[in-house]
Amino acid sequence: MSLPTPNGFLNFTPLTARQAKEMQPVLAGFPFLVSDGFASRIDWSNQNDPLLLQVLPTPLELEQREGFHADPLDEKEYRAAPGVLKKYQGRVILQLTGACPIHCRYCFRRHIKQDTIPNTLAQWQAGLEMIRSDERIKEVIYSGGDPLMVSDKKLFALSNALAEIPHLQRLRIHSRMPIADPKRITPALVEGLKKSRLVTTLVIHMNHPAEMDETVREALARLVDAGIPLYNQSVLLKGINDRLETLVELSEVLLQARVTPYYLHLLDRVAGAAHFQVDRDRGKALVAGLREHLPGYGVPLLVEERPGEGAKSVV
Ligand SMILES: *Cc1c(COP(=O)(O)O)cnc(C)c1O
Ligand code: SF4
Repeated sequence: MSLPTPNGFLNFTPLTARQAKEMQPVLAGFPFLVSDGFASRIDWSNQNDPLLLQVLPTPLELEQREGFHADPLDEKEYRAAPGVLKKYQGRVILQLTGACPIHCRYCFRRHIKQDTIPNTLAQWQAGLEMIRSDERIKEVIYSGGDPLMVSDKKLFALSNALAEIPHLQRLRIHSRMPIADPKRITPALVEGLKKSRLVTTLVIHMNHPAEMDETVREALARLVDAGIPLYNQSVLLKGINDRLETLVELSEVLLQARVTPYYLHLLDRVAGAAHFQVDRDRGKALVAGLREHLPGYGVPLLVEERPGEGAKSVV
C-alpha cells in the first residue's frame, strides 16, 4: 500500500483540515510509504497501533530538538568509495539502494540523499577495488535503504564479484524485507544466497511481535532451512515497544522463528524522531528485566551508536 501523494495519504487517515495542512511539509521531506504486507498487520481502528505508529507521519516530526540532526551518525564522513561506508574495523557497508519497501519514521537515514549509489557492476568497480586492496576486510554488509529492493540479478552480480576477492569471508544482509514484503524471499533468492562461497547471514529488523505473521514465519523458515543464520535488530521506540512484556514477547516470537535477538538500539538522534526517544536508564532497566525472563541467547545487546566511534557502544 504505497500512497505516494499526500492527498492519497490524507484521505485515508482521520485528520482535520488544519492537521492535513501541517502534514504537507512532513510528507514532502519523507513520504508516507507502507508495504501491503506490513499494512495488513496494522489494526487501522486503533490510533495507537504499534505498527501504525512506526509508519504514520505526524506534525511532531517538524519540531526542532537540540541534539537531533539530519545525519546523526556523520555517515558522509565514512564514504570510502561510491556506495561504500567504512565505519567499522574488518567490515564495510555497501549501500545498494536508497529505496525501502516501507518508510519507518524513526529511520536515521531518512534525510540522507542517496544520489551516489552505484547502479551497475561497472559503477561498483571503485568500491570492489577498495575492498580488494585491503586484506583486513573480512565481511561486507549489504545495506540501503533496503538492499533487497534490488533485483536478484543485480544482487548476485555484485555478490559474485565480491566472492572473487580471496580475503573476503562473509556477506551479511541487513533487510526489513522479510517483514515488509515476505514474498520477496523467493526460493530463487534463497537458493542464490545459499550458493555463495561467502558465509551469508541476514539481519532482519523487527520492533514489535505483531510484525510477525504466518507469511513472515514462512519467509524466515525458507532462509533458516537453507542454512542462513538469522539475527534481529530492533530500535527501542516510545509508545511502540518500551514495555517489558512487549520485548519479552518479541524475543519469544523471534526465537520461535529461529531468529536470534541481536541488538536493541537506543534511538539515533535523527531530526524528526525525537518523540520516539526512550532514555538510556529506561533501556537498561528493560534489558535487565529481559534477563529475568529469557535464556541468555534471547536477550539482545542494548547498544547506542556514537558518531566518530568505530563500533557500537554497549550501554
Ligand atoms: C550496527 C550496524 C552495522 C554493523 O553491525 P555490527 O553487527 O556491529 O558489525 C551495519 N549496518 C547497520 C545499519 C548497523 O546499524
Ligand atoms: S532503511 Fe530500514 S529503518 Fe530506514 S526506512 Fe528503510 S526499511 Fe525503515
